[in-house]
Amino acid sequence: MKVSSQNPLLILGGGLIGLSLAHALALKGKKVEVLSRNRNEAAGFVAAGMLAPHAEGLQGKILELGQQSLNLIPNWVKQIETSSGMSCGLRQCGVLVPFTSEHQLNEYPTACFGKKLNRSDLEKETPGIAEHWKSGLLFEQDGQIDNRRQLMRALEKACVELGVKFQEGVRVLKLVHNGSYLEGINIQSAEGEELYIKSRQAIICSGAWSNQLLKDLTIYPVKGQMMSIQGPRNSLKRIIFGPGTYLVPREDGLIVIGATSEPEAGFREGLTPFGQRQLKAGIHNLIPIANSWPTMERWWGFRPCTPDEKPIIGAHSLEGVWIATGHYRNGVLLAAITAHLLSKCICKEKLDDYENDLLLSFTFNRFAEKLIMTHQY
Ligand SMILES: Cc1cc2nc3c(=O)[nH]c(=O)nc-3n(C[C@H](O)[C@H](O)[C@H](O)COP(=O)(O)OP(=O)(O)OC[C@H]3O[C@@H](n4cnc5c(N)ncnc54)[C@H](O)[C@@H]3O)c2cc1C
Repeated sequence: MKVSSQNPLLILGGGLIGLSLAHALALKGKKVEVLSRNRNEAAGFVAAGMLAPHAEGLQGKILELGQQSLNLIPNWVKQIETSSGMSCGLRQCGVLVPFTSEHQLNEYPTACFGKKLNRSDLEKETPGIAEHWKSGLLFEQDGQIDNRRQLMRALEKACVELGVKFQEGVRVLKLVHNGSYLEGINIQSAEGEELYIKSRQAIICSGAWSNQLLKDLTIYPVKGQMMSIQGPRNSLKRIIFGPGTYLVPREDGLIVIGATSEPEAGFREGLTPFGQRQLKAGIHNLIPIANSWPTMERWWGFRPCTPDEKPIIGAHSLEGVWIATGHYRNGVLLAAITAHLLSKCICKEKLDDYENDLLLSFTFNRFAEKLIMTHQY
């Protein structure tokens, strides 16, 4: 097996989180190399790109993490756009969550962050909205980014401009360690050659596939199917976030529709008639006329999910191994804060008390502790 004598900081997975970390670390002067098996399978190219901690009704520390990220995003995007010379497609368009009753609205976990709308406000905000929606919450602070067509590409370009090395088509086979610290990585190149890269630092950013690299990472895939339709210009100005379905209008009139949630599908690829019918039914439930607008594209991907549906961000017990995965349905929203916090840890910069406290909720060993508790009692 050939051995590489360099000692770069390796990013294992070139999806959204891997690219965001590569960018943040390169800005801090680190020598970084991204090892990516298949950029096209990354959930970063699948997501709807909603930046919506309030509309999603997040609660507790994950809501805080989302809000912190939302605050960072304008500057984060500016940095990526400056490094790349490309636009990321950020739009603070607001997100509207409709309800069939006042009770439902008042029970919504993030109701206190939204503006209450009655039926006639709803009609003004969203012409064509189905009649059964009686009220709504408008979260003006939430928005979207065009991850699929703009952000991912801009991040790749920004990384290259900052000197990040890329290997595409490379499968990370194994982390090589001596039981206490990382020594290197075994990979298979796109040409089928097995290689050993010496490295004392690596970040696992392998999305839904992360536990293929570290068995103690409790990550599993939750498949999601998507489609897009082309609406008349300005047909929809805000994101509509309904139960099980959302409509995300891009600047050019394309409306991204998501998403099914299929944990039982495992890594089974492809669209299904049932999933696609579900999306159509979801559109009908929100804006019936939108089902007559032409369908442009259909696609699918895998969300990386953990048992408590929250990400894992921080150090692994194996020295030199860092983890940034499990972002489930909020990885686009959380990419900025993940890159901010973890790049500080890796560069040994001091985190303030609030950041330290926040990170404690997302440690790798929270599941290990639970396992021990279950075993003892
Ligand atoms: C249908 C759907 C809709 C979504 N909508 C939203 C949304 O609106 N808002 C939001 O915030 N989030 C959304 N998400 C979630 C978001 O897309 C993910 O949380 C995020 O992309 C995860 O990023 P990641 O880098 O961890 O994983 P990915 O982007 O999946 O990247 C992982 C990469 O690792 C590579 N890899 C895996 N194993 C190996 C290996 N052994 N060797 C080398 N490379 C490897 C893969 O090829 C892949 O490219 C959505 C996700 C889906 C699927």
